[in-house]
Amino acid sequence: MIDLHCHLDLYKDALTLLPQVASRNLFTLVVTTSPKAWLSTSRIFAGYENIEVAVGLHPEIVGLKARERELLMSCIAESRFVGEVGVDGSRVHQETISLQVSIFQDLLIECEKAGGRIISVHSRNAVKQVLDLIEQNCFDSTPILHWFSGTIPQLHRAIDLGCWFSVGPAMLMGLKGIALLREMPIDRVLPESDGPFTTFHSEPLMPWDAIRIVETLESIWGMSKDRVYSQMELNLNALIR
Ligand SMILES: [Zn+2]
Repeated sequence: MIDLHCHLDLYKDALTLLPQVASRNLFTLVVTTSPKAWLSTSRIFAGYENIEVAVGLHPEIVGLKARERELLMSCIAESRFVGEVGVDGSRVHQETISLQVSIFQDLLIECEKAGGRIISVHSRNAVKQVLDLIEQNCFDSTPILHWFSGTIPQLHRAIDLGCWFSVGPAMLMGLKGIALLREMPIDRVLPESDGPFTTFHSEPLMPWDAIRIVETLESIWGMSKDRVYSQMELNLNALIR
């Protein structure tokens, strides 16, 4: 299967999992939470052509990692994939909101300078700010809104701005996530696990568990499992090749 957003470096047994993920998944995008983490993870995870490691700075920890801002910008040129980045507007992260916005904006500009990047974007409780920044700064890049949790009108705005969506089993546990998925264009949806932060029966979701969204897609899209799989592969190829 495909996992377009996981934190493989943060599993307890990441190095043991690595070859399993490479053989079980067609493609896996490992997002990182800081550029320093990207420098080491991309070195350690090198050698698997179906595992890509994206350089990121997670919005929830920009306060702690503000010193890595320049490093992040300088790494964009070398990384085809960027994430996890974005803005988190939750109350606990209000203190850093202007810093988050400023870093995300600079990052989008840097991605444009590099000719455009595929960017896995976090937008929890900050969909409006994220879409405003994408509208103003994203032209050649492809933003993928990971675990989108905005409103239906915001979703339509995101679609008009050219955004893609990575959707995981955790997002589809609630009716809201399913209602959003119904409105997403079938050629811009890809699976994600967001493991190990997401769990199922208190076990972390594994990168190959992203596959569990297929059942919901079968019913929403009115397609057989095989056709859903081929649609996912088409989407992946359109995105990355
Ligand atoms: Zn994540």
